Amino acid sequence: MILSSKELIELEDQFGAHNYHPLPVVLDRGEGAFVWDIEGKRYFDFLSAYSAVNQGHSHPRIINALINQSKRLTLTSRAFYNSELGKYEKFVTELFGFEKVLPMNTGAEAVETAIKIARKWGYEKKGIPSGEAKIVVCSGNFHGRTTTIISFSNDDDARKNFHPYTSGFVSVEYNNIDSLRSAIEKDKNTICGFLVEPIQGEAGVNVPDEGYLSSCYEICKAHNVLFIADEIQTGIARTGKMLAIDHENIKPDILILGKALSGGAYPVSAVLADDEVMNVIKPGQHGSTYGGNPLACAIATEALQVVIDENLAQKAEQLGEIFRSEIEKMISEFSFLKSVRGKGLLNAILINDTPESSTAWNLCMDMMNNGLLAKPTHGNIIRFAPPLVISESDLCEAIKVLRRTFMNFKK
Ligand SMILES: *Cc1c(COP(=O)(O)O)cnc(C)c1O
Repeated sequence: MILSSKELIELEDQFGAHNYHPLPVVLDRGEGAFVWDIEGKRYFDFLSAYSAVNQGHSHPRIINALINQSKRLTLTSRAFYNSELGKYEKFVTELFGFEKVLPMNTGAEAVETAIKIARKWGYEKKGIPSGEAKIVVCSGNFHGRTTTIISFSNDDDARKNFHPYTSGFVSVEYNNIDSLRSAIEKDKNTICGFLVEPIQGEAGVNVPDEGYLSSCYEICKAHNVLFIADEIQTGIARTGKMLAIDHENIKPDILILGKALSGGAYPVSAVLADDEVMNVIKPGQHGSTYGGNPLACAIATEALQVVIDENLAQKAEQLGEIFRSEIEKMISEFSFLKSVRGKGLLNAILINDTPESSTAWNLCMDMMNNGLLAKPTHGNIIRFAPPLVISESDLCEAIKVLRRTFMNFKK
């Protein structure tokens, strides 16, 4: 039975929880930077599943790794060793320059893992009195959807009526070095970690000032506080370097990866740290049935190798320059566009209207009708993050679609 887009949307509406508000398009197939809806219409994918599909949809090498490994062995649990995990662990730790990795599945789980490691390190290595460990987080953060993580969000939708909240978090203003310094100086004996997104993706591609992250790192080092980088969205070549913190040449104490770690083929996340930090976790103290399964390991290894072999970081850097300079031209032409910001191929256009207005949504609807998919965030910001495998000519084609949409847009 072949159902139409309308019928499939109705099914999701009737039988699925309404925890998302999707654009009305039903995708059925993907290849590289493109996706097709059920009626066969082609779209540029400028969301890339929130930067999970950096390597492009259904990358043949990643799909091959998935097929081959899935025929062999998919899940053993960590009650036993498996023939993929050790090889993957060696590869991923050497690639990112850490001594250890702890494999998980989703991004939120990896953030939870990092929080647990930081707290345990705080008690056992830093000597924080029992029950007093605190982690500093930033205003506007997005780290996932678990009860603990939403406890330190300041987005009302994410938090409201999900209390009581997990305690032990202190919030500072993002991109404000003094705010972090005074928070850490005030509680220097009880703060174990500083959790930060190098660029805040969900907040609307909020790029901090140059030097912010390295100054934060210095402050953390001065007070024996772990610098924890959530690179779930910014990592794996998205911003023009393998990691966004590479722009400031710092090595976090704990690195959190997810999303593009599997190129969109499977949920794979990871927490990386050196022995001094990671070794606080002993058998029985943390884990996951699926974490580190052989299928995930085979897929993640190939997904990372694709990023290296296809120079995707360099591509993101070059194509990002083109994207922002072309959008800059349009900003001077169209009054409803306010500004463009971003790094590499993680960019956003700010719309000249309030967060409550429907201008950004209506623009995304028009882009969709013209064959390009992007989604507003926080009402008046549109994120543009195509797969990094997009060719320069396809990117220019997509920019033409944007120009055409803006030219015909009626507010
Ligand atoms: C997406 C995201 C997460 C959560 O990842 P999930 O796989 O959705 O749980 C955490 N942190 C950042 C920065 C993200 O972009």
